[in-house]
Amino acid sequence: MEQRIFGIETEFGIRYSMTGMGQLGPEEAARKLFRPVVEWGRSSNVFLENGSRLYLDVGSHPEYATAECADLTDLVRQDKAGERLFEKLADQAEEALNRQGLEGKLYLFKNNADSAGNSFGSHENYLLSRKAEFSRLVRFLVPFLVSRQLVVGAGRVHPSGPPQINGAPESGQPSYSFSQRADYVWEAASSATTRSRPLINTRDEPHADAAQYRRLHVIVGDSNMSETTTLARAGMTDLILRMIEDRQGLDDLELANTGQALRTLSHDLTGRTTVELKDGRKMSGLDLQRLYLDAAVSYTDQQGAPRPETEYVLDLWGRTLDAIETQDTSAIDTEIDWAIKKKLLDRTAEKLDADYSHPRIAQVDLAYHDIKQNRGVFYLLQAKGLARRWVSEESVTRAETVPPETRAALRGRFIAAARAAGLDYTVDWVHFKINQQIALSHSCQDPFATEDAEVEKSIRAMQDATRRDQRAMPPLI
Ligand code: ATP
Ligand code: MG
Ligand code: MG
Repeated sequence: MEQRIFGIETEFGIRYSMTGMGQLGPEEAARKLFRPVVEWGRSSNVFLENGSRLYLDVGSHPEYATAECADLTDLVRQDKAGERLFEKLADQAEEALNRQGLEGKLYLFKNNADSAGNSFGSHENYLLSRKAEFSRLVRFLVPFLVSRQLVVGAGRVHPSGPPQINGAPESGQPSYSFSQRADYVWEAASSATTRSRPLINTRDEPHADAAQYRRLHVIVGDSNMSETTTLARAGMTDLILRMIEDRQGLDDLELANTGQALRTLSHDLTGRTTVELKDGRKMSGLDLQRLYLDAAVSYTDQQGAPRPETEYVLDLWGRTLDAIETQDTSAIDTEIDWAIKKKLLDRTAEKLDADYSHPRIAQVDLAYHDIKQNRGVFYLLQAKGLARRWVSEESVTRAETVPPETRAALRGRFIAAARAAGLDYTVDWVHFKINQQIALSHSCQDPFATEDAEVEKSIRAMQDATRRDQRAMPPLI
């Protein structure tokens, strides 16, 4: 596909750390976090004027799903805008709790595993043409997703070694892995996300015209703090999808055991341990990624770079594989999450004269993912120029309220008009409805559409009604 829609859903970890007596569990903390959202939208599941979805499911992981983006750099901005919105909500909730006498600090972590061994996700959404044969696409994509963690993993400390693949006890040897999520994912593809923990969710819900499109729902990835790593994650995957769709230059690299390969490659920082392919070949993480990178480079040499970000994505991808090969991360340690974090962990360990089993190392590992900009370790590094930015902070601030140029722009304007007119509305990815008013209700099946005559007509009608009756609802934050 020439054009594509991208979206990232992020589930956050939450913790309220009391300084005084008492306790506040994550579910209560999450409810407190969502109080202004519920007041704003009368629900803990709302769509915002920037086109995104903010919600709290059962359990305690607040989620932000970016609006549909047609541009990779927009995706990075929209993803960061979600962090900023939650950061403000967390500050408000913390103040409210402190006023109530429950003194403490509220933490939101953009990571994928908590200390109790639960995992939560960062889901990527890619629009596909319905014409592509889905099972073939999945077969070709899975070995890429399994090895992609060498480049875009967020890094994870195992104080007493990684969980063993066959259920054997941990080795006791402290270690570092490329990925957070790899230890929790088991199968190649499934429609049941919670039970079998697949790499791809095959539930067929395109949020678009189902005759024309499919939505690929990748659930194996790590949440990224680094803007450049987020860019690489979606940018590399877009390139590989293009090649699979065009039936170009890719070898069939189907793995003998996907779940096992995922963990083996995650735990092997040398990139050289091999895993078995279905056809009996043995390949390392570096071997696999080199094949994909080489294919992507020759594909773009022939076809031209499909996006303005492509050159940088390919360059960073290559530098990361070189860094693993030479075991020298100095050329990527401001751009790739696992390497940015590892550099700091190594320095910390050296200062402490300790190894990765030291409790301080686990603390720094977690604090890297704290989204509060004046406290989180990633942001302290970024402020010192030790984590490279891809987008300006002004553009992130703008993305908190301004939707990307896709269907999200229509949704955003529809929501703004409905709220300004004081009308009850129900919105999802496809539907924009004013409750009980069929004439003002629409279904928008084209995720690329930034204009729609019928929707515009309703927006204008609502704006006219607002001019007659000024009852605007207040903004969220
Ligand atoms: P849930 O997470 O509740 O199981 P879901 O998979 O539909 O449901 P949402 O959290 O609602 O996920 O997020 C959907 C994501 O898909 C958003 O990031 C959105 O931008 C993106 N998206 C919407 N429409 C499309 C589309 N047609 N193609 C690709 N991505 C899309
Ligand atoms: Mg979701
Ligand atoms: Mg989802």
